[in-house]
Amino acid sequence: MLNLTDIQPQQNEVYLDNNATTPVLPQAAAAAIHTMNLCYGNPSSSHMTGVRAKYILDSTRTLARQVIGATDGKIIFTSGATEGIQTAIISALNAARQTPHHISKPVLLYGATEHKAVPETLKHWNQMLNIGAEVVAIPVDNDGILDFDFIAANVDSALMICTMAANNETGVFQDLQGLEVVIRDNNPNVLWMVDCVQGLGKISLNMSNTSIDYAPFSGHKLYGPKGIGFMYVRETAPYTPFIAGGGQENGLRSGTENLPGIASLNAIFKLLADENDDTFKSHDVLVSYRAQLAKALAEVFPEIVYNHNFDCSLPTTLNFAVKGLSSKDIMNLFDAAKIRVSAGSACSSKVTGSFVLDAMGKPSWQSEGAIRMSFGPASTQAEIDYACTAIKNAVMAMRNSCLILSDTDENVDSKVNGLQQWIYDQQCTWCYIDKDSKEVLLIDPVPELVAKFDTLVSCQNYTVKAILATHIHDQQSNCPAEIREILATKMPAGSYDQLGWDPASTLTVILENGETAPAITIGNKVVAQLALPGHTSNSVAYLLGTPSAGKLTANAIDYVFCGDTLQIGGIGRSDFKVSDSEALYQSIQRLAASITNQTLMCPAHDYKQLFTTSLELECANSALLNKVIAGNVDAAGFVASKAELDKKITVSDAPELCGNINKSIDPSIDVNPENLVAFLVENDVMVLDVREPHEFAAHQQKYLADQKIVNVPLTKLTEFVHDFAGQKQDENFVCICRSGSRSDAAAKTLKRMGFANVYHVPGGYALVS
Ligand code: PLP
Repeated sequence: MLNLTDIQPQQNEVYLDNNATTPVLPQAAAAAIHTMNLCYGNPSSSHMTGVRAKYILDSTRTLARQVIGATDGKIIFTSGATEGIQTAIISALNAARQTPHHISKPVLLYGATEHKAVPETLKHWNQMLNIGAEVVAIPVDNDGILDFDFIAANVDSALMICTMAANNETGVFQDLQGLEVVIRDNNPNVLWMVDCVQGLGKISLNMSNTSIDYAPFSGHKLYGPKGIGFMYVRETAPYTPFIAGGGQENGLRSGTENLPGIASLNAIFKLLADENDDTFKSHDVLVSYRAQLAKALAEVFPEIVYNHNFDCSLPTTLNFAVKGLSSKDIMNLFDAAKIRVSAGSACSSKVTGSFVLDAMGKPSWQSEGAIRMSFGPASTQAEIDYACTAIKNAVMAMRNSCLILSDTDENVDSKVNGLQQWIYDQQCTWCYIDKDSKEVLLIDPVPELVAKFDTLVSCQNYTVKAILATHIHDQQSNCPAEIREILATKMPAGSYDQLGWDPASTLTVILENGETAPAITIGNKVVAQLALPGHTSNSVAYLLGTPSAGKLTANAIDYVFCGDTLQIGGIGRSDFKVSDSEALYQSIQRLAASITNQTLMCPAHDYKQLFTTSLELECANSALLNKVIAGNVDAAGFVASKAELDKKITVSDAPELCGNINKSIDPSIDVNPENLVAFLVENDVMVLDVREPHEFAAHQQKYLADQKIVNVPLTKLTEFVHDFAGQKQDENFVCICRSGSRSDAAAKTLKRMGFANVYHVPGGYALVS
């Protein structure tokens, strides 16, 4: 295991994720350490050590009152805002239980863009305390502003209303005074919680001048450590302790106080309250920082779209999307360039949007592609300057990878070549580029990836040779046709059929099974079309390889794009209206007779990050497939067994799950970060950085323990399997990425594809540099 002191930030990191958590101010850290070292007493002890600790507790409470303008009411120290939210909600719901109300259909109202801690806590305690209210979201408009008419119409039935001062994803702030008028005009007594977590230090708060009943705050969102927070409770608001015990905090919140955390708040509050200290910047300065960052972003992403209106947002948050770029693309690039931002959907293989942006009615591409860049009220001019430079540098890497177009005349000579696999929502789009002939081919395109493809094509002036589908389901829109329309100027005119194939422009090749197949050229290779009805009546495979004397033999095929006929870990399903299992039986045999057992198969889906497969692997996995290919089952037997298999596809899998997946994966072998250097010194190893080329380009380090790092992005892993087939047995490979997740997936695939000595580094570059 690494020593904690070995875990270090990278040099010159640009931290722009302050809405997630802030760094700890040196003054706050010093206060906590001083308290731990020297003022370690228990504030409840009556000896002098305890009295000193109690002074820290009491004086911090006084300072808290000052910074949030609470001359009366309670200030209670908590572990953070989530605890404050629990306490407020339990207090309000318990009061509703104890005091009879005459509301026939009570509701619990919350803003549709609240932090999940709010609706989830409302639902949880509504159920646990048997309140029987309906938990209802207050809609917001396109700017994220709460619908006052909705509140006016519904708040008289509310037992509680929960709103927020400022949103954590967008920085959108609410008009608390206007909100108060609409709430109190319609229900003077409803209990009102305002989540002030993102507001403290950024907007002026004056609790005692409002009728807010509960306001939770969190230390780690304002330069304090994690695990400390506090809450304001209005004098007249009902209160139920969430934590009972030794009676600390006047019996309002038991448990020995987190004194070091409280001491750190003390230091922060003092800075906030000190008008002569400029640690916390004025609103105008923060607005100028935002303008500077927005200018840098506009220079590198001319197509940038902000997901919120700056006029009603805190200056410290910039939430944006760039058409054609996923949030993953941007976030990964920035991370490689040491710029830390956050992305709503970066960690999921299923594409998910942001519920906040969805509630604001933003288009799905904006929600799915959202990036949040957040600095803090104590950010400095030097940090913002450095961030702007880092953003500009990072984006050069993106241009060189043809992910964005250059707005200057510079001629980018992209290294993009060969086969790429793009995955969107577990669907695979395969892009094949022949750099020399400048021809490009797209197979099984997903509409959401078209903008990315368009940029790639424009970036290098490629000719689009074809846009092909391996099959089209009944109700499915005709993706190739739609994309052809968008790319009309970049591909030859032709009379394309439903699958995007132009029968007029084809040559023919003879396949291994003796069939004559139509084909098109790309560079000096061909793509032959092999009809494989079964999954749908129009299913085909495309065989890409190098022909010789009019033949495309099995050995000469590099890849087979097999659509849903065969999947990784299963035979494609054949229970659709347009399916025909008997035809599928024949098709599998026809395919098997045209390729080798090792030919790389590139299916239209990848449900489990397995990338590619081969007949050999699939036969080892499926007894039925094995029998079909060996001729040990007849068509009728196959149809019966296949019907049984298809029944096992659960309803929740449909309609995306086009195959029957059941795959166990070999674990890859870890090289733990603390052993990596020794491992690289002792062994002859090829280090594979499996991040995307733009990330690799942005990451300046090109050697690990004197071993050159080779970039093999996951999008090109299948090509690597093909090109390095000859080194499978002899070479050692160590995969590495940012955090160990992509390297794990890559190592597992390489092992599954027969590479004997494959390792990966858990924790990735985050722990090794
Ligand atoms: N409310 C908002 C608006 C937040 O941003 C967060 C944290 O992300 C929370 C509540 C939860 O705060 P804590 O981490 O202190 O529990």
